[in-house]
Amino acid sequence: MTGTGVTENAGRRTANGGRPLGLYVHVPFCASICGYCNFNRGLFDAPLVAAYVAAVAGEIRRAPAGLAADTIYFGGGTPSLLEPAEIGALVRACRERFEVADGAEVTLEANPETVSEASLAACRREGVNRVSFGVQSFRDEELKRLGRAHTAARARAAFAEARRAGFDNVSLDLMLWLPGQTVAHLETSVDALLELDPEHASVYLLELYPNAPLRESMARAGWSLAPDDDAADMYVRVMERLEAAGFEQYEISNLAKPGRRSRHNLKYWTDGEWLGFGPGAHSTHRRVRWNNVTGTAEYTRRIQASETVVAVRRPHSAREALEEALFMGLRLSEGVSVAALREAHGVDIWATFGERLEPAVAAGLLVHEDGRLRLTRPGMLMANEVMGAFLPADSTVE
Ligand code: SF4
Repeated sequence: MTGTGVTENAGRRTANGGRPLGLYVHVPFCASICGYCNFNRGLFDAPLVAAYVAAVAGEIRRAPAGLAADTIYFGGGTPSLLEPAEIGALVRACRERFEVADGAEVTLEANPETVSEASLAACRREGVNRVSFGVQSFRDEELKRLGRAHTAARARAAFAEARRAGFDNVSLDLMLWLPGQTVAHLETSVDALLELDPEHASVYLLELYPNAPLRESMARAGWSLAPDDDAADMYVRVMERLEAAGFEQYEISNLAKPGRRSRHNLKYWTDGEWLGFGPGAHSTHRRVRWNNVTGTAEYTRRIQASETVVAVRRPHSAREALEEALFMGLRLSEGVSVAALREAHGVDIWATFGERLEPAVAAGLLVHEDGRLRLTRPGMLMANEVMGAFLPADSTVE
């Protein structure tokens, strides 16, 4: 990726009738469960892992042959719990089934406590060329509160190991608005991230689902979240500091050095197509959407029994496709092109929704200029509200 994002990706057409696919492989295993986590994951179980790897390779072989793809993304869960040879087997399965482009981006999500220089070097030999570390904080106290298994020192060491293993494309995740966190605490984590100088950073506000165990720990220990206004200050502060250090914010939660945007994740935000493999994985291809059964044992059993692993499959209606293109596209700093959406979806969004959007424009949350619509930074902080007003009252988006 050269950093031009939307437009660059939009130009490449392939034999499968569209842009190259992204391939997503879900790895649903973790060594321990964090107190805020609502992802599809379970505890590491060695016999199940071996059966799961064979099952995912089997699911990949069931895909139509020869489609073009240019990204592979191992997400989780904790993909770095797999052996490098297992990751290599799945990369090879993708390469055998799909026309994977030379220079494809191959990302491994990794937790700092699960890697070593040797394991990262081995993953690199197996074809991984990008690592995304779930660091979340560089303060041990905060990491403990979240139930993370690593320390700040381990995160620094893991980053150094990735560099020594030859990775020149590394992303670090930080979480904001942690229990008991102040703006000054957050500055410590930002300082540490800048010192390491990764190519990419993701910055998320902690979201606590209703029954998250972390809520109980917070109540017991008397930790509270900073007021909403502080969360907004934290977000703006992090973005400004990273931009001053040469990062470009290209999406609500993502920043990259020039040319280092996540090519895989851009597919989700630019109306792209992807196939997901593994339990709970989602796919979007040729205006059809489907998702797999979520249970790992059930998923594996179905593959072994030559049964379908698809739980739900349905056509993506024209209305849903447009809404998703808008909701996802507006997450990007560049926003969406009115003309491109008209060409792809047959609707002039400004002519249709302009009147409903005017209040957001007047409030400085949304900008309409040069044929594009985009959120301002204050608008990004209120993205759901802005986008809600943006669509007709009877609209639904999944
Ligand atoms: S490591 Fe990630 S996926 Fe696993 S429990 Fe923690 S937050 Fe969830």
